[in-house]
Amino acid sequence: MTSGKDQSASSFPLPPGSWLGMLGGGQLGRMFCHAAQRLGYRVAVLDPAQDSPAGAVADLHIRAAYDDAEGIRQLAQRCPAVTTEFENVPASTLEQLAAEGVAVSPGAFAVAIVQDRTKEKAFIRSAGVPVAPYAPVFEKNDIAIASQSLFPGILKAARLGYDGKGQVRVATREEAMQAWDDLKTEACVLEAFAPLDYEISVVIARGRDGQAVTYDAARNEHRDGILAVSTVDPDALEPGLQERASRLAKELARELDYCGVMCVECFVLTDGSLLVNEIAPRPHNSGHHTIDSCGSSQFDQQVRTMAGLPLGCTQTLRPSVMLNLLGDLWFENGVQREPDWAGVLRVPQAHLHLYGKTEPRLGRKMGHITITGDTLAQAQERAAQAAGALGLVYQP
Ligand code: ATP
Ligand code: MG
Repeated sequence: MTSGKDQSASSFPLPPGSWLGMLGGGQLGRMFCHAAQRLGYRVAVLDPAQDSPAGAVADLHIRAAYDDAEGIRQLAQRCPAVTTEFENVPASTLEQLAAEGVAVSPGAFAVAIVQDRTKEKAFIRSAGVPVAPYAPVFEKNDIAIASQSLFPGILKAARLGYDGKGQVRVATREEAMQAWDDLKTEACVLEAFAPLDYEISVVIARGRDGQAVTYDAARNEHRDGILAVSTVDPDALEPGLQERASRLAKELARELDYCGVMCVECFVLTDGSLLVNEIAPRPHNSGHHTIDSCGSSQFDQQVRTMAGLPLGCTQTLRPSVMLNLLGDLWFENGVQREPDWAGVLRVPQAHLHLYGKTEPRLGRKMGHITITGDTLAQAQERAAQAAGALGLVYQP
């Protein structure tokens, strides 16, 4: 097991000017670069793509595959601390970095658990945190003998799923057997369909010393398995929910001996109880609002945790609505067009973030807007205006 703790404590905090390493070149890496550079750090991004959102703004882009030993060595030589922006980075890469003396956060141990749903579910349950009833599936027969109470359910590939990919809703055992054949994967979890009232998520930042802070829970709306809207207003949350969710997040982070930023996605059921759906070992789409609405952003916290700096303030300064901008907005009747950015920017406190991706595709995350207001109602009204300018469906 490797964690940043292995690094001698005397090298932290890393002074500004130090290099921080990022595995992955997507938008999360890009927003990390912005936060790190603002604090005076330099960032090396390792990503195989020639043209990537983070590679374009990093101080150095090491163009290599995530398991390329030479690329990893280059990263290790330059960066005393390395983090990741996506959970599917090979655990062996994190291990190699740690073996070369790099402080890796989160560590290979935590990432290896959350990148495999069968391990993740078992871990969450063993930490005493409730999850939806499920059964691990390693062969078709596991579905044949699964409890009838898991139907209707969802068959989820254990690895490499995101944005609802690698998941099939199954009404019956027969459908689940068919879905297993279709998914053609080595392992799955079969999960009972939970009676959701709504979904929330909590972003937590935890330092090497075990200090942890949580943000106010975001209430999330998904469309076609992809996050569409996150709304944050602590005053609009049910009494006690924030405390319950924060407690779960802190418990899970502690059990993982976690260093860095992670997100705990939860289901609030119709009976008011709370289940944990999954953990993301990195900043999360539902935490993007923190850049514009909180004392310190989730990316700022990622920098702070890896550099050994004090954690930032997670207080919500103003209510917010975050709208994801998918590539779909670039098309009208199948013809590509430029969305009406001026219409968005005319809206007061509409903070537009575009990730610099050159090719819009259906379902591809191209950017987001965080709209803030003095009250939630004001933020929602403004969000409706911004959405209207883009032809985006938004119903508060
Ligand atoms: P993402 O990358 O957006 O987190 P994912 O591919 O990791 O997605 P999940 O988070 O497991 O997938 O599921 C996507 C969505 O499907 C959830 O946010 C929820 O709306 C719905 N869902 C998943 N599992 C269940 C369940 N057991 N019962 C009801 N709805 C579910
Ligand atoms: Mg999810």
